[in-house]
Amino acid sequence: MNGPDFVRLIQAIHTAMEAAQTELNALDSELGDGDHGGALATAFADAAEKAAALTNPTPSTVLAVTAQSLLNRMGGASGALYGTLFLRMSASCKDRTELTLADWQAALQAGLEGVQARGKAAPGDKTLVDALAPAVAAVSTSDTLGGAFAAAAAAAQAGADQTAEMVAKFGRAKFVGERARGHVDAGARSMAVLFAALHRYQEDEDGKT
Ligand code: ADP
Ligand code: MG
Repeated sequence: MNGPDFVRLIQAIHTAMEAAQTELNALDSELGDGDHGGALATAFADAAEKAAALTNPTPSTVLAVTAQSLLNRMGGASGALYGTLFLRMSASCKDRTELTLADWQAALQAGLEGVQARGKAAPGDKTLVDALAPAVAAVSTSDTLGGAFAAAAAAAQAGADQTAEMVAKFGRAKFVGERARGHVDAGARSMAVLFAALHRYQEDEDGKT
C-alpha cells in the first residue's frame, strides 16, 4: 500500500465513521457522555481533508496528519489514544514508500504498544484495547493483506462484543460500576468499525486487479 492508497484508506475510514456515528454515540451514552461517534466523525473528516491536500503523500505522512487531526479535533480520553495509535504507526514506517504485510504488522504492534503505554489499559478492562489487541494479533495469521485484514476485522468485532460482559476499569464507564455489564464499550466498537473499513478497503482493491 502506497501513499495515495493511504489517502483513500483514510477517506474510507471517514465514511465508515460517519455511518457509525449515531450507533457509537448511543453506546457512549449508556456508559459515558455520548460524544464518541461525533468526535470520531469530525476528526476523520478533518484527517481526510488534510491527507487529500498532501502534495506527495507517503504512508507515514498520511498517518501523521491523521494523528494530528485525531489529537487536535477529537478530544476526550480516546482522542489522545487514537492519535497515539496513528502517530506510532507513522513513526514505524517513516522510510517506507509502500507498506508490506510485515510493515503493517510492525506498525500496528507499535501502535498498540503506544496506546497501552499511554492509557494503561490491558485486555479485559472494557476499553478500545479489547478490540485493538486481538486485531493486531490477527494480522499475523495470514500471508496476504486481504486475509490479514479480514482476520483483524473479525477479531476486533469479537473483542468488542466481549466487552459487554466486562466491568470498566478506565474512562467514564468506570463510574457506572456493575451497571456497565450488558453494554458494549463504545471505543471497542469504534475500533471494530475502523478495522472493518480497512478490510472493506482491501477487498475493493483486490477486486480491481
Ligand atoms: P470521553 O470518555 O472522554 O468522552 P470518548 O467518548 O471519545 O472519550 O471515548 C470513550 C472510550 O475511550 C471508551 O469507550 C474506551 O474505549 C476508551 N478509553 C477511555 N479510557 C481509556 C484508557 N485508559 N485506555 C484505553 N481506552 C480508553
Ligand atoms: Mg465520551
